[in-house]
Amino acid sequence: MPKYWHEDIETMSREDMKKLQNERLVKQVHHVYEHVPYYRDLMDKKGIKPDDIQSVDDLHKLPFLSKADLRDAYPFGLLAVPLSECVRIQSTSGTTGKRVVAFYTQADIELWEDCCARAIIAAGGDKDDVCQVAYGYGLFTGGAGLHGGSHKVGCLTLPMSSGNTERQIQFMCDLGSTILCCTPSYAAYIGETLHDMGLTPDDIKLKAGIFGAEPWTEEMRRTIEKSLGIKAYDIFGLTEISGPGVSFECEEQSGMHINEDLFLPEIIDPETGEVLPEGTVGELVFTALTKEAFPLLRYRTRDLCVLSRKKCSCGRTLIKMAKPMGRSDDMLIIRGVNVFPSQIETVLIEQGYTPNYLIEVDRKNNTDTLDISVELTPEQFSDKIKDVQNMEKSLAAAIKTMLGINPKVHLVSPKTITRSEGKAVRVIDRRKLHE
Ligand code: AMP
Ligand code: ZN
Repeated sequence: MPKYWHEDIETMSREDMKKLQNERLVKQVHHVYEHVPYYRDLMDKKGIKPDDIQSVDDLHKLPFLSKADLRDAYPFGLLAVPLSECVRIQSTSGTTGKRVVAFYTQADIELWEDCCARAIIAAGGDKDDVCQVAYGYGLFTGGAGLHGGSHKVGCLTLPMSSGNTERQIQFMCDLGSTILCCTPSYAAYIGETLHDMGLTPDDIKLKAGIFGAEPWTEEMRRTIEKSLGIKAYDIFGLTEISGPGVSFECEEQSGMHINEDLFLPEIIDPETGEVLPEGTVGELVFTALTKEAFPLLRYRTRDLCVLSRKKCSCGRTLIKMAKPMGRSDDMLIIRGVNVFPSQIETVLIEQGYTPNYLIEVDRKNNTDTLDISVELTPEQFSDKIKDVQNMEKSLAAAIKTMLGINPKVHLVSPKTITRSEGKAVRVIDRRKLHE
């Protein structure tokens, strides 16, 4: 079984990788300066010329690009090749406002699919696997990316797209799927449906899952692994930089290797823009080193995480990023306290609840309110009001210990919280509606 997709790249020495990155960066800056007037203007305003960038060490001199720039330049303003050279458009999910579109040449698609192939191999896949792709197909990059990667590896590919969960399980049983690709929230839903259909992990052949496109906790990983009888691997990416496969997890399951031959990462202070030393939490920034059609330099992802060059037991030398804790704009400020939905998810699962929950934030009488609805399983469900009240109290206390603020917990009946087939919506912030 192959251990790597591109062994030479994935295990390259630090010196050779840096050399490769330097060469690619110098070339890419010229490509962008010559073909993207929008970015050329940003460089000119900063007084930076392409020749000022001689290596990765000069990267900090370049201006940032943000989502606002992408919206500004929508749809064609950051395109670096004639439209006739492009073969594909994909779009962001639009979770944080207007969608932006990204363009791909055939070479861009090849490299993106290669990234997904690296991820499938790292999750233990090879050409004998049956790979069920249950990410949404269409403008969203999840379906297209893993589909392409699965073909490259030579897996038998099932292009299921998301939804129709019982049919997903039927096909899984009939066709012997061994790898499942979807969002972690959908994987949890598939696990739950398997159980509801009276089946167990012994009835299916799945061995691995490649789950990403949204933040998920270690506790969620264990829940999914148990319900489907698999090893669950994280995969990260964003449309602006290509799609899933910007980074991927290996057998160590402790952070994702970034395909840094293609995407150069930096961590910056989201307030000041200052580059932070390795090991510090901050905003992830990517420079696409080889992309032809949509070559973003220093793109601010708004994802918060930390990078590490600690040696990995899988033999890959590619730098690793920790699971992102969410986007800087996912962070809720409630009564002055910073709260990430992932912190709440951690407590819920630790306390034996399912990952079916909804966080609602509002402002009443000038005070922020935090309401968390959590679904009970049929086993947990009780019609004794006192029992439920006690459970609510003890869960609220555990959440208070984690966050430092008091939530109102509502335990609700089984199957009353909407399940997600794609990216889950777990937070409703009504304060924004009053603004
Ligand atoms: P999009 O390209 O619009 O589908 O979404 C990209 C965004 O999804 C990223 O910027 C992250 O915020 C989020 N994302 C993707 N993969 C992961 C992951 N594995 N863990 C956490 N967040 C993720
Ligand atoms: Zn590794």
